[in-house]
Amino acid sequence: MNKLGPSTLSIQQSLMPLPTPERTALLENPGFGRAFSDHMVTIRYTEGRGWHDGKVEARGLLPLDPSTMVLHYAQEIFEGLKAYPQPDGGAALFRPDANARRFRNSATRLAMAPLPEELFLEAVHAIVSTDRDWIPKLEGAALYLRPFMIATEVALGVRPAAEYLFCVFASPAGNYFKGGAAGVTLWVSEHYIRAAPGGTGDAKCGGNYAASLAAQAEATREGCDQVVFLDAVERKWVEELGGMNIFFVFEDGSIQTPPLTGTILPGITRDSLIVLARDMGLTVREEPYSIDQWKADAASGRLTEAFACGTAAVVTPIGKVKGKGFEAAIGNGEAGPVTTRLKTALLDIQNGRAEDKHGWIQRVF
Ligand SMILES: *Cc1c(COP(=O)(O)O)cnc(C)c1O
Repeated sequence: MNKLGPSTLSIQQSLMPLPTPERTALLENPGFGRAFSDHMVTIRYTEGRGWHDGKVEARGLLPLDPSTMVLHYAQEIFEGLKAYPQPDGGAALFRPDANARRFRNSATRLAMAPLPEELFLEAVHAIVSTDRDWIPKLEGAALYLRPFMIATEVALGVRPAAEYLFCVFASPAGNYFKGGAAGVTLWVSEHYIRAAPGGTGDAKCGGNYAASLAAQAEATREGCDQVVFLDAVERKWVEELGGMNIFFVFEDGSIQTPPLTGTILPGITRDSLIVLARDMGLTVREEPYSIDQWKADAASGRLTEAFACGTAAVVTPIGKVKGKGFEAAIGNGEAGPVTTRLKTALLDIQNGRAEDKHGWIQRVF
């Protein structure tokens, strides 16, 4: 069985949902990744049997035997998407089909059982529908969804597991960066790389994040907010941040972002911003950009804005870039006009304030 009908995702309501006054208090100041809703969706996979036992249930512990394969060989992938409150009181997902496709691609790269895209979509719709009271109504806030999958077979031995658990849970989310919309400072790592050709850079797996943490810690020690990675081969081309793609805006109004050559995570925000920028008549290049060019363009003023983007952080202006022996400010260090225009255009579609010309919005209710 590789496809569950809508009726096979059984629903077991939580017997201990968080009392309304406590939930309301959390929703007033959700932060990011600190509060979690009442339910989760789980679906299991066993080789020979396929996907089965899909359910919406009370959010709870996942008991794991010490020999569970994910704990040793790191077959783990995840996604991140949001349910946005709509003006009529409903909720909508933004391009969840793209998350479903990327999740399947990540599974294939990590030799895991690919989850059928319609099952992924059914699961994310089900969690939002069940925990609809957990969607924050504040401007800029949303219900963040975290679908993930782990190898659950209990065995040692390096090979793809024969059993997997898919799970989605939800977390009300406000601003990702505590400072709000002021420009962040990036640290260019000389020593560490994020992804190499042929590696897992274009798969959304926890292992990529584990490998980025020492570099992120270095950035923090250097007084920076985030690390920006260069390519592994020449240590010259700008790739992306630990969990966000990067864009550059030039004096002539054109925009540039590094191309998807296999070592960059294909962000859905990245793709959407390219489309929106072209809709606005802006020239967008998907071309490599070197760190030396970045320094030169920041100094000459040819580079007027830079921003990072992703589902969690939306569009975040980059105010400064630092590395061993250099520091360069970009524009006036705050969100420039192109950054602001693109961010507004994206948020307006996600929040149902602008026409959804590209069919990106999926209503949940
Ligand atoms: C998730 C992620 C992004 C952003 O992707 P979106 O689909 O826009 O949320 C960018 N880079 C990395 C490394 C990521 O893991």
